[in-house]
Amino acid sequence: DKVLQVNNLTKHFNLGKNRILQAVTNVTFYINKGETFGLVGESGCGKSTIGRTIMGLYERTSGEVIYDGENVHELEGKRKFNLRKEMQMIFQDPYASLNPRSTVREVISEPMEVHKMYKNKKEQLNEVYQLLEEVGLNRDHANRYPHEFSGGQRQRIGIARALALRPNFIIADEPISALDVSVQAQVVNLLKELQQEKGLTFLFIAHDLSMVKQISDRIGVMYLGNMVELTTSEDLYKKPLHPYTQALLSAIPIPDPDVEESRERIILEGELPSPINPPSGCVFRTRCPFAMEVCSQKQPEWQEVETNHHVACHLYQDDVENQHKKETIVH
Ligand code: SF4
Ligand code: MG
Repeated sequence: DKVLQVNNLTKHFNLGKNRILQAVTNVTFYINKGETFGLVGESGCGKSTIGRTIMGLYERTSGEVIYDGENVHELEGKRKFNLRKEMQMIFQDPYASLNPRSTVREVISEPMEVHKMYKNKKEQLNEVYQLLEEVGLNRDHANRYPHEFSGGQRQRIGIARALALRPNFIIADEPISALDVSVQAQVVNLLKELQQEKGLTFLFIAHDLSMVKQISDRIGVMYLGNMVELTTSEDLYKKPLHPYTQALLSAIPIPDPDVEESRERIILEGELPSPINPPSGCVFRTRCPFAMEVCSQKQPEWQEVETNHHVACHLYQDDVENQHKKETIVH
């Protein structure tokens, strides 16, 4: 039951003087209802741009975003306005996303007022209290200001605000990256609980694979505006196919000794190229230890090489001369 479909989505920003920032190029994935889809990659790889384009905050350059059967970028008027009730975002820095001069009550009730969710103030206030409790705060917090709270509590306030319109789909853009390690697990657990209670669907954006692993059912790996691999959380760890995914995994310890032993160790070298001037062919080729001649000439196709396992890499494409390379890399 697909709730979101992103088809060949491209978002390029024209910077003027013939400079085009190729933030997102030809990205395709779907998210099932009630699922958590993790989007992972280094900062600047296009993850947040995908999130914002799905929300309709950015126009697409090409491709489409279908939410619940409707093309997000073709909605107008009231239907576009109502989409806000369906989709909400949680941001990395809860403090920056909360107005410091508003009380917690005002922060949470603002979207309710914009959408005229409740007939009277009393009903609205009761809903605010209820949301505060759902995120692990309480009604005594309602008249206080964001700066009076810790980072983790502020993120809880941000989550309560995101839930104020009773959305079904949440885009969490690095929601725990700015928090202390000790607090991160609490916020992840809260998100999981809320997901179960409310049947929410999540797009969970992070730069750290170990973080998305815990919460995601499936994971898409991004590099320089391109999605390079997509599979279940489990397979991505056990059997990473793309050299970039292997490099990301090499950087974090995995407690499972079997996985550890069979894994290729790839240490990333070199600089991340500019998305204004990405390499020809495969975007990863300037840093890839397996790069072949074909990698600079031809862009690898996005292919399902095993069931529910997509990858864009010449090592896995049905090209006989690459077969021996493949042997060296498949576990
Ligand atoms: Fe490396 Fe070539 Fe695969 Fe790109 S297509 S990841 S350069 S082997
Ligand atoms: Mg970002």
